[in-house]
Amino acid sequence: MATGSSSLVQLPVGFGGTDAPVAWPVPASVPRPARLGASVQTLGRVGPALERRLARVGVATVGDLLWQGPRRYEAPVATKRVCDLFGDEEAVIEVSVRSVTSRRRGRLQILTAKVSDETGTINATWFNQPWLEKRLTAGTPLRLRGRANRYGFAVSSYDLDGDAETAAFAPVYPATEDLAQKRLRELRTQVLDEVRGVGEPVPAEVRAREDLPLRADALAVVHRPRDLREAEVGRLRLAFDELLVLQLALARTSATRERSVAEPLPPPGELIERYRDALPFTLTADQEKAIADLDRDLASSLPMQRLLQGDVGAGKTVVALYGLLRGVEAGRQGALMAPTETLAEQHFLTIEDLCAGLGVRVSLLTSSLRAREHAAVRQLIASGDSQLVVGTHALIQKEVDFRDLAVAVVDEQHRFGVGQRSALVEGRSPHVLHMTATPIPRTLALTLFGDLEVSELASLPASRKPIVTRWIPEERASEAYTRLTRLLHDGGQAYVVCPLIEQSETSRARAAEHEAERLRAHELAEFRVGCLHGRLRTQERRELMARFKAGELDVLVATTVIEVGVDVPNATVMIVQEADRFGLAQLHQLRGRVGRGAEQSYCLLVSRPREELTESALERLDAMVATTDGFELAERDLEIRGEGQVAGARQSGLSDLRFVRLRHDRELLERARDAARALHGEGLLGDEVDRLLGDAEHLGES
Ligand code: ADP
Ligand code: MG
Repeated sequence: MATGSSSLVQLPVGFGGTDAPVAWPVPASVPRPARLGASVQTLGRVGPALERRLARVGVATVGDLLWQGPRRYEAPVATKRVCDLFGDEEAVIEVSVRSVTSRRRGRLQILTAKVSDETGTINATWFNQPWLEKRLTAGTPLRLRGRANRYGFAVSSYDLDGDAETAAFAPVYPATEDLAQKRLRELRTQVLDEVRGVGEPVPAEVRAREDLPLRADALAVVHRPRDLREAEVGRLRLAFDELLVLQLALARTSATRERSVAEPLPPPGELIERYRDALPFTLTADQEKAIADLDRDLASSLPMQRLLQGDVGAGKTVVALYGLLRGVEAGRQGALMAPTETLAEQHFLTIEDLCAGLGVRVSLLTSSLRAREHAAVRQLIASGDSQLVVGTHALIQKEVDFRDLAVAVVDEQHRFGVGQRSALVEGRSPHVLHMTATPIPRTLALTLFGDLEVSELASLPASRKPIVTRWIPEERASEAYTRLTRLLHDGGQAYVVCPLIEQSETSRARAAEHEAERLRAHELAEFRVGCLHGRLRTQERRELMARFKAGELDVLVATTVIEVGVDVPNATVMIVQEADRFGLAQLHQLRGRVGRGAEQSYCLLVSRPREELTESALERLDAMVATTDGFELAERDLEIRGEGQVAGARQSGLSDLRFVRLRHDRELLERARDAARALHGEGLLGDEVDRLLGDAEHLGES
């Protein structure tokens, strides 16, 4: 030990003295902030496979493991004897292994162990954990937590080799089917020491006044609380930080905004009158109110920053187009930005129809245009020949040079103005309208996004019937198609949405084509089936939609490209395949494609077998069946989000707020706002504000 070159700590030799040593030994507990940014692969026992799985729940670095808090905490459950298991109540059993078998069913690997205690024997099942088989040799003692069902005992967690995960009070992290809770907890234990690296950006004075623990302590305690109360104290501190940073970011952007000016627009005139006449319906009271709000904003020299929120189908597009046409009418330009290219195309198709009748020239600018066409469209925009332009967010942030942009509409931007700066502050700023279907309570929106004013479309147009939603497990999928066939015979039309696979647009397109072929050959042999996906050219897609609208097709098999913008009132049925893979917001958007006419509509969610589903997938499907109210779903989403967010699923709007519980934390929000006002400058929090605003810009470019 005395000569051990592996040890940093040199034991003193000889008599002690007053001279300091040449170098102080580094204590084992020294903070190493750089470790937080290191990939999870730098951890012991984490290889490329686990890294990929972690990436799917949003964990790439050591820091991510810490900053992703538990979704909830699991309460202990009673230990039972096998003979006492009753119903599907959650229980722990202490058993030993008799024998093990495994088999495959499709993608599913099922491991079954016959286990027993002195009172009885039961078959315990695990899914997709093949490595477990060789550890479950006959005689191995086990503790299992789970529920009895008609096949045996479905294991949710287990203890092997003396761990105590099953019965204890424990955190539950966002997981997927191939990423076990147990592993996620182990990883947290592995990295918990690194909380010392997170620093303490909030001044001691604020911490003392607000009675907050240190950030590092708070972070540690949300992962390892003794009880729920402790966990909540930790969470509140972390939520406070998030809200504080958000408030500082807002203060920064609104200071920028107050320095910029917009050109006031003259009052509505003849073009707007023709637009109103061209609409095949009368506007709802909420729409009129939103339009009046716009008129007021557009008459001001302070650039408009308004949030238009309304559930799917509430009729936001009509209001947005009103705003854009106000700009066009003034001899200037309007731009509509969507979060993806496909959505931009959908918007273009809707808007171009209306504008053609009004004599307004509309262009679509996407990066899938060939270079020559792209340049040509840019030229039209620069010369002002294009009065209205539809594209992605890149439209106002990249090389595009408008002759005179007056009004910009940003669809589903989710960032509500935090960080839409760079493009908007050069010289004159356009008036900006943000649209979202992710509803937040109005007062909360005002407080959270203090620099935005809010217009709300609270009620849906006409008296639409609520959509009937059913959840059908895969093994009974034929029921969904039986029902579909009946409704098609009655003259309805339908969508079939293909599973969300994590791959390129091209392979998604191929899968959709394949599924359409299969349906044409089997379930839907007597109907006319079209196939819509992101690899079709705009022209092809437009023709396909036109044929569907005209009733020349009965069924549209589609990828999620139909998520927004598609509007065919006669379509009354939607089947979503593998609905468990979709996020809640996305399912709600998809469902919004039906129920647009006066007829009763249906949404049939087909999922993989129940026992294969993760907890949050079950919760999402339950929520979809329980309500069609977008507001309620948005709140549920905030509660259960985080898990299994496969690529392509859109981010929930408030993704920067990981620890905030909007429904519970109103008071905390007030406190954070007051604290932000009382701070002298951003101090150490400035970096975090930069990051928030920087990220926002980055996302805006997607
Ligand atoms: P979202 O808010 O989801 O963007 P849309 O703007 O796409 O909703 O509108 C949904 C449907 O409702 C469209 O078919 C639109 O033409 C129709 N719509 C909009 N406003 C009204 C209204 N006042 N009365 C009847 N139908 C309307
Ligand atoms: Mg819309």
